[in-house]
Amino acid sequence: MAKKYVYFFGAGAAEGNMKMKNLLGGKGANLAEMAGIGLPVPPGFTVSTEVCQLFYKNKKKIPEAVKLEIEKNLKKLEKAVGQALGDPKNPLLVSIRSGARASMPGMMDTILNLGLNEKTVAALIAKTNNPRFVYDSYRRFVQMYGDVVLDLKPVSKDDIDPFEAIIEQKKHERGVGNDTDLTADDLKDLVAAFKAAIKAKTGHDFPEDPMKQLWGAVGSVFSSWMNERAIAYRKLYDIPESWGTAVNVQLMVFGNMGNDSGTGVAFTRDAATGENTFYGEYLMNAQGEDVVAGTRTPLPIAELKKDDAKGYAQLEKIRHILEKHYADMMDVEFTIQQGRLYMLQCRVGKRTAFAAIKIAVDMVEEKLIGEKEALARIEPDQLNQLLRPIFDPAQKEVAIKGGRLLVKGLNAGPGAATGRIVFNSVDAEAWVRKGEKVILTRIETSPEDIKGMNAAEGILTARGGMTSHAALVARQMGKVCVAGCGDLVIDYGRRTMTVKDRTLKEGDWISIDGTTGQVLEGKLNTKPSEVLQVLIDKTLDPAQAPVYQTFAKIMKWADKVRTLKIRTNADQPDQSANAVAFGAEGIGLCRTEHMFFGEGKIGPMREMILADTLDQRKTALAKLLPLQRQDFAGIFEVMNGRPVTIRTIDPPLHEFLPHEEKEQRALAQQMGISFEKVKERVESLHEFNPMLGFRGCRLGIIYPEITAMQARAVFEAAAATKKKGINVEPEVMIPLVGHVKELDHQTKIVRETAAAVMKEQGVKFKYLVGTMIEIPRGALTADEIAVVAEFFSFGTNDLTQTTLGVSRDDAARFLIPYVEKEIYSKDPFEVLDRDGVGRLMRMAVEKGRRTRPAIKLGICGEHGGDPSSVEFCHMIGLNYVSCSPFRVPIARLAAARAALLTPPAPKPAQRKKASKK
Ligand code: PEP
Ligand code: MG
Repeated sequence: MAKKYVYFFGAGAAEGNMKMKNLLGGKGANLAEMAGIGLPVPPGFTVSTEVCQLFYKNKKKIPEAVKLEIEKNLKKLEKAVGQALGDPKNPLLVSIRSGARASMPGMMDTILNLGLNEKTVAALIAKTNNPRFVYDSYRRFVQMYGDVVLDLKPVSKDDIDPFEAIIEQKKHERGVGNDTDLTADDLKDLVAAFKAAIKAKTGHDFPEDPMKQLWGAVGSVFSSWMNERAIAYRKLYDIPESWGTAVNVQLMVFGNMGNDSGTGVAFTRDAATGENTFYGEYLMNAQGEDVVAGTRTPLPIAELKKDDAKGYAQLEKIRHILEKHYADMMDVEFTIQQGRLYMLQCRVGKRTAFAAIKIAVDMVEEKLIGEKEALARIEPDQLNQLLRPIFDPAQKEVAIKGGRLLVKGLNAGPGAATGRIVFNSVDAEAWVRKGEKVILTRIETSPEDIKGMNAAEGILTARGGMTSHAALVARQMGKVCVAGCGDLVIDYGRRTMTVKDRTLKEGDWISIDGTTGQVLEGKLNTKPSEVLQVLIDKTLDPAQAPVYQTFAKIMKWADKVRTLKIRTNADQPDQSANAVAFGAEGIGLCRTEHMFFGEGKIGPMREMILADTLDQRKTALAKLLPLQRQDFAGIFEVMNGRPVTIRTIDPPLHEFLPHEEKEQRALAQQMGISFEKVKERVESLHEFNPMLGFRGCRLGIIYPEITAMQARAVFEAAAATKKKGINVEPEVMIPLVGHVKELDHQTKIVRETAAAVMKEQGVKFKYLVGTMIEIPRGALTADEIAVVAEFFSFGTNDLTQTTLGVSRDDAARFLIPYVEKEIYSKDPFEVLDRDGVGRLMRMAVEKGRRTRPAIKLGICGEHGGDPSSVEFCHMIGLNYVSCSPFRVPIARLAAARAALLTPPAPKPAQRKKASKK
């Protein structure tokens, strides 16, 4: 059988269904699904995504076999609706729309009203008796076709669209302000003027033959897969170019056929808050683009009851059918043509993090989905939004009383953002690169603005509704957004925004509250979110915190399914307490060197480094011992029996020394030695490659007394904590080990010290000694290292640095372009490089377990809080990940999703038990 490229839908049946997204794109698959379950979908057909690939292989031409199939389906469509393309009596009009596997709103091209020409226009006027409507449709078609297919576009960004210029000229001539004031004759003139402009630019007449129009339109939609906007969007959302788009050809229905017609977009639940209410907006006597383009501000969907009670009731019914059928919150587009409702699109609705969590939890309670499905629906990074700050309510109230409330718009993307005003996307990116925080302020946004929106703290627009481009995209990005501030007058030329008598200029501070829609002049402090107030500040009663409640449920479900433990990287008791509140089950990395910068510690530390003799060094270390012991005891108490991994000193010593003459003189005086001596010592510690120099276990090997002091501080603190009745489980970790002998050397010191302290203090406690795996030799010889190490913790910051040969401190200059050029698809210091670093990790896991089957395996590099890296850690069978305190909830959810989506790594065949040294 010949391969099928085109799939018909409508008239109560469909050749496709919602599972065929890869082939039909999201739009095509869902149109087929809706048609299949009997919803009123205008009939049409989908040209599959495979044709997009063929199109590019075939020098951007539609292959003949596909053309034949399209023609066959067109006939079927004509038969289904009793109209024919180009028929001078009963013409068929179609829309041509893109539809990729993943939604890419507004990124590709669309053509509406295709099939209109001088003959069919006459037929349509005769049929509808509404010349204004017909000419308006015709003018929209010629304009869209001229732009998309014939490429009549503004020359530069600052230029006005050539078609809009003609419209403006006409309005000026006629002395009217709005497009709606133009008459049928005016519109007819516009069509003629548009066609003349097209001929002048292209040298060809506007195509009259509807089939020619159709081939042009289908080809252009496929071509738009590779336009600049679509490419940028795909990069931002990791959509592979190979997917391609499908093209949907569908019977046109009109929402602008008079006051019994209309069009709208809606979500089956509130996409901002997740409330179970019908949420959306519509416009009577309008076409879909009027709603999303933000050129007219639409009405809330509930008002439709007044304008069209029957249509509203039918929509409500469809809302429930869709939610039950898809078991998810759906986003729909509909049109009412002369009192008859049509569903034009449905897809799983984009939502804020708040909404995602609430909907997932509610749907579990409504028994629409199970707990696991709920977890699969929340992206771990979305939790970030819940942890983000809100405005300090007291300060905000003062600001409002002080008259700083400028204007109120729609609360399109919740959260609080403060920043300096910029008026375009390019400036937004440039200012952010300079370290500024900005609010991107636009009359309305368009797909061209996505990069600036991504860079900005928040987005503010003068026009457009809750489903305008700005609102949709901001929510998807998790940005704060206030849209549709009608009273805001923005002057791009002067770079000002004015509300009544107040004018703010570029660079001025404003604060926007995306939860209430308020816009305030000046900078406002932000305050922790509800979740933080409950968990960290403990200033809010959990019972009074509904957002927290839903968050807590998700966390509970996540904990039920995850197999990875979650620890935290913390070196202070307060950090540790925060992490425990967020659900940390231990400390995976306590960087002891961070402690040396604390109160009163840097002096003895410097003394220790500058010491000439062992005795001098021991004297300095003796001063440090009680200080470190106190730090550890504080952490042990907070961690209350949870495991705590403490790493011996790691960074190059010169990092602790003063580098300025003034500071060096002060130190010399304090220590009673000469300035020259200090200077000389600092210089002697200088290294060309400090990251590959005298650091990590090398310090403890050359100066074993440092390791001995640190081990003593750990164990004395452990003994003291144990005596208080609090359990302790210290794990001493040796950094930068490449050779088992390095670890052996350090382990002996640690174990001797532990034995001595237990004896002196008369207490026993369990402890482990292990190592970081953070240089390739460590990974390559992990089987040998595991003879000594009781645990491995992957230090993927250094392991990435040393595996890639890329300095972690100097990489930004070339890594950003590297990512742009897709040499690495993501910054490897942020998202684990599975093919390189990951391969070493996998090898180390296997070798380590082969030697010591019960070896404990974790990760403490920054990747421990990145969802994709957490998934990889699950796949290779680590026991835990460790991340910064505020990432703990993200890691908990990421670990749960990994457990649900990815089978755990098979444990290697267990061999002989290793001898424990
Ligand atoms: C690492 O290298 O991944 C690590 C956790 O250690 P540090 O960042 O302190 O070098
Ligand atoms: Mg390291």
